[in-house]
Amino acid sequence: MDCLFCKIVRGEIQVPRIAEDELGLAFPDINPGAPVHVLVVPKEHIATLPDAAARPELIGRLHALAVKVARDKGLEQSGYRTAFNVGKDGGQHVFHLHLHLLGGRPLGWPPG
Ligand code: 5GP
Ligand code: ZN
Repeated sequence: MDCLFCKIVRGEIQVPRIAEDELGLAFPDINPGAPVHVLVVPKEHIATLPDAAARPELIGRLHALAVKVARDKGLEQSGYRTAFNVGKDGGQHVFHLHLHLLGGRPLGWPPG
């Protein structure tokens, strides 16, 4: 499939593979918004969160992978944020589902 994150999952675009399991892959965001900014994506192509609504186990597994990365990055004590951007107003630009993991500085709320 001609999708940026599918190409990353398949290794056609090389990125540091921070963590992965059979369902998901974590890699650094190319334009980090915080000292730690990691994207956790499903290995299969799912465009956006509503398309994953029937797959709660997949959504949970992506979060579990984000928790592991956050722990490995030393964010457990300081805290961090996970977020799915959904659609136009949600600020989603890449239509392959991705969970943002941000940390390493205090994060404002609400986000922009
Ligand atoms: P969205 O705006 O869709 O929620 O998030 C897309 C994210 O993907 C952005 O934070 C952007 O910096 C990141 N991104 C876009 N292109 C690439 C790329 O080629 N490689 C990586 N690692 N991240 C990318
Ligand atoms: Zn894809």
